Amino acid sequence: MHYTVVPVLLLRALVAGAALGVVACAAKPLADSYQPGAAETAAPSPTQSSSATEASAPLVDFADWRDEFRREALAAGISARVFDAAFAGVEPDPSVVAADRSQPEFTRPVWQYLDGAVSPQRVQRGKRLLAEHADTLARIEAHYGVDREALVAVWGLESSFGQIQGDKSVIRSLATLAHEGRRPGFARSQLLAALQILQNGDVRPEQLRGSWAGAMGQTQFIPTTYNTHAVDFDGDGRRDIWNSTADALASAAHYLQASGWRQDRPWGAEVQLPEGFDYALADAEIRKPLAEWRRLGLTGMPGGDEQAQASLLLPAGHRGPAFLVLDNFRSILRYNNSSAYALAISLLAERFGDRGEVVGSWPRDEQPLSRSERLELQERLGRQGYDPGAADGIIGANTRRAIRGFQQALGWPADGHPTQELLGRLRAQP
Ligand code: CA
Repeated sequence: MHYTVVPVLLLRALVAGAALGVVACAAKPLADSYQPGAAETAAPSPTQSSSATEASAPLVDFADWRDEFRREALAAGISARVFDAAFAGVEPDPSVVAADRSQPEFTRPVWQYLDGAVSPQRVQRGKRLLAEHADTLARIEAHYGVDREALVAVWGLESSFGQIQGDKSVIRSLATLAHEGRRPGFARSQLLAALQILQNGDVRPEQLRGSWAGAMGQTQFIPTTYNTHAVDFDGDGRRDIWNSTADALASAAHYLQASGWRQDRPWGAEVQLPEGFDYALADAEIRKPLAEWRRLGLTGMPGGDEQAQASLLLPAGHRGPAFLVLDNFRSILRYNNSSAYALAISLLAERFGDRGEVVGSWPRDEQPLSRSERLELQERLGRQGYDPGAADGIIGANTRRAIRGFQQALGWPADGHPTQELLGRLRAQP
C-alpha cells in the first residue's frame, strides 16, 4: 500500500487556507451538483456555514494573479518546473465562472432525486458490478471494514460507476475559481493540493481531469481529499482514481473508514411514527438512543445496539416517509453533506440486496419552494420575529428552527419543513 506524505509546508498552507473560513472536510466541493434539494434536505453541519461567499476582492488580471499565486505555491514546496508545466497556456474558463455563479431558481424535490438516484437501471448495473468485482470488493472490505454495497452505491452516484467523471482540466477550473470564484480561498487550497498531486507523479497533467468544481475521478474526490485518502490498491505504484476501479473503490472505502464507518452496522431504517408524534424531534441535531425512540412509539426500528444514537429524518416533512439514521449515515454525510444524497446511497446499497423499498408515500402533489420563495420565506419569518439567520435562500438549521416556531404558533405539526402553504400563511400575516 502506498500512501503519499504531504510535505509539512504544503500542509501549513492548506491549514492557512482553512483558517480563512474554509472547511474542506467533505470529500466533495460544497458547490457540488449532487446536492439536489440540498436547500430542503441537507443536514446542518459545520461545513455548511462555510459555503457562504467569501469576502470579494477587486478582480486582478489573471496573469498578475497567477504570478502572485506562483510565489505562494513555490513557497509551499511546489517546484517551478511542476508549476510552469501545469500552468502552460492556462486561461480562465468562462463556463466554470458561469457554473459557479449559477443559483438555480428551481430545485428538484427529494422524491424526484431519489427516483433518479435509485433507478431500476442503476440497481441492475450495481448488482452486475458487485458480482464482476467480487474479489476486489472482498479484499477492500476486509482491509477497510466498509461494506461493499455502500462502496458500489457511492461509485454509482458519484460517477455512474466510473462513466461520468468530468473532463475539464482541474488546474484550469481551480485556477479560474481561485481567481474569480465565489470562494477563492477554498479554490486556492484545492489548487495547491492539485499541484501537489502532479508533483507526486500519480498522474500526468493532461490526465488531471474532473468536474467544473474540481471533483476528480470515479470517486469525485477534491484534491485535498485525494492527497489525504486516495490509495493505490492495485499495487502499480500510482493512486489512479480515474482509471483503476480497485484504486477508486479502495479510496472511497478509506475515506468512509476515516469518517467512522463500521461494517455490518445498519445505516438506519424507514420507521413509522405514532399518532400525535411531536415532529419537532425530527432534527439532525437531536440524537437519542434507539431504545428511547422505541419508547416514544416508533416502529420498524433498525436492528442492532439499542443504545446507538439515532436522529429522525423527514426529508419531505411530516407528510412524507420517516427515517431513523445512525452513525454510518453520518459517515456518508461526510462524503457529501446532503441528507438526500446519504439517503440515496443508503437505499441504493439496500436495493442491491432487494431491500430498501420506501414504504411511506411522498407528497408528490407538493411544489417545492423556488429560490425566490425561500428568500421571501426567510424575510417574512424575520419580520414575524423568528430568526431564520441570513436570508440566503438556503433552508439550514436556523431557518428550520424559525419555521418550527411559526408552525408551533399556528398549532401545525412542527416539522421545520418549508411548504407553499406555510409561505401562504406568512403572506397573510399582518
Ligand atoms: Ca494503482
